Amino acid sequence: MPNAYFTIKRPENDPFKGYLPGSAERAELKEELAKQAGQVVRIPLIIGGKEVWTDETITVTMPHDHQHVIAECCMAGEKELKQAIDAALAAKDAWEAMPWEHRSAIFLKAADMITGPYRKVLNASTMLGQSKTVFQAEIDIAELADFLRFGVWGAQEIFKEQPSSVDGIWNRQDYRPLDGFICAISPFNFTSIGGNLPTAPAIVGNVALWKPSRTAVLSNYYYMKLLQWCGLPAGVINFVPCTGGDMSKHVISHPKMAGFHFTGSTAVFQSVWKQVGENIASYANYPRLVGETGGKDFIFAHNTADVEPLAAAIVRGSFEFQGQKCSACSRAFIPESIWPQVEDLLKKHTAGLKVGDVQEFDTFMAAVIDKASFETCKGYIDRAAASDECEFVAGGTYDDSKGWFVQPTIIRCKTPTYESMVKEIFGPIVSIYVYPDDKLDETLAVCDSASPYALTGAIFAQDREVIVKMERALRNASGNFYINDKCTGAIVGQQPFGGARASGTNDKAGTTLNMVRWVSAHTVKEAFCPSPAIAYPYMSEK
Ligand code: NAD
Repeated sequence: MPNAYFTIKRPENDPFKGYLPGSAERAELKEELAKQAGQVVRIPLIIGGKEVWTDETITVTMPHDHQHVIAECCMAGEKELKQAIDAALAAKDAWEAMPWEHRSAIFLKAADMITGPYRKVLNASTMLGQSKTVFQAEIDIAELADFLRFGVWGAQEIFKEQPSSVDGIWNRQDYRPLDGFICAISPFNFTSIGGNLPTAPAIVGNVALWKPSRTAVLSNYYYMKLLQWCGLPAGVINFVPCTGGDMSKHVISHPKMAGFHFTGSTAVFQSVWKQVGENIASYANYPRLVGETGGKDFIFAHNTADVEPLAAAIVRGSFEFQGQKCSACSRAFIPESIWPQVEDLLKKHTAGLKVGDVQEFDTFMAAVIDKASFETCKGYIDRAAASDECEFVAGGTYDDSKGWFVQPTIIRCKTPTYESMVKEIFGPIVSIYVYPDDKLDETLAVCDSASPYALTGAIFAQDREVIVKMERALRNASGNFYINDKCTGAIVGQQPFGGARASGTNDKAGTTLNMVRWVSAHTVKEAFCPSPAIAYPYMSEK
């Protein structure tokens, strides 16, 4: 039960640093990059606040230089996962009882460290471990700080929401954490999401097990260390890298799993949902299932669109971070009449993109995350090359001799339902369908229905009547919709993020809509002068 005055102001977003040539932050970051690239970090599990070392380990390499090892990470097995559940449940009462303002102070302190002296540590580990360019890492780390600040503020907004009372009666709502532990499983592509998945529930008093992605484990470990340094009590978040299979078998099936906070692929979330459904009678509570999952995000242009920003949106939206943002553009619909101009611009811009090492600051795009992702991209490219339904506008090549490099690739497809127009690829490949100008309605309908996802989408048009028509036609095709802007780059507190259909439960990370999933309201009515009466006044005969 919070007992503080509610004093936290709505936060401001952390401003991004520029890393311009000659700037202090650029020099500091380069030094940190050289340091981290020159060492091999040994990563333990963290259970009940203690480091736990296991014999089962994985090596962590840089995707853009896949023989270069930067970390070795212990993996949890059945024994350690059981210990972590016990540690979380043992920490629960004290964490719940800690005054809300003291719990919050831990996370606000972590946010200040992230935007201050710890920024370079998280930026460098995200750049090297996840192959992000400096700008992509910077926006990721700034988002992590935003998640913490908006999370604390969002919790306060929930606690403030109280029922009305009448004379002699006090009604109040006690926002309890869930009665059990949270299982948080995170993806590789954002350090911020990794950090947020266990932390958002912890802000409102929950305890958690956190399974990071094996390809983001270095930056995620540094975040975990930071939380400990900021005073997070032992056992509140337990850091347990392990296989998905072990997590399913030993954690998701546990009767005290009260909530599941996930970001990753649709297939994994659906398998967990199924598992929970099959075991539903064995849980102490109905587990809350929150998942943000896959996407097939689109840019749809009308013939009144301004072609320069349209082409820029396709290039940035599709290729930044190698197309591995959940919001990345991976299909576009362009009317025939403007296609020649758009095509010229796409060819010109794509040819100018440097693909390479993130430590060279003129790099626009680095490597895809791992061999599996590289093989997926290669498969789509090879099949498109062999298909008479497709032609390459740009790219179409790949090279894994040093890193998992796939060139930025634009495929023009003759049909809007060709596989690369409808399936999530999660790499630097965008497919384009050029439609007859007089088939706008039909093409909008295809965009809405051809793929099962509904995460992000953008339209480009100058004609306002057309904008209204397109927005209506695509209302359920995304959770985040953009007009005359690219479909990526959502900012916490400005464009709350999440999708529907096969893209997730749309609980909008970093908002009260998400935080409210991690509390269970307890309604308390107190009578100050309780009545001894049995009979009601209407029962009188006089
Ligand atoms: P992934 O589904 O392969 O892995 C996500 C996490 O689930 C990892 O920690 C992984 O080890 C774990 N996992 C794998 N199999 C499991 C199993 N059987 N049981 C339990 N856990 C299991 O996803 P990824 O490759 O890390 O991330 C890319 C995916 O995430 C894309 O589909 C992308 O669209 C999605 N994503 C969505 C959003 C969003 O907000 N909607 C944000 C980021 C990423």
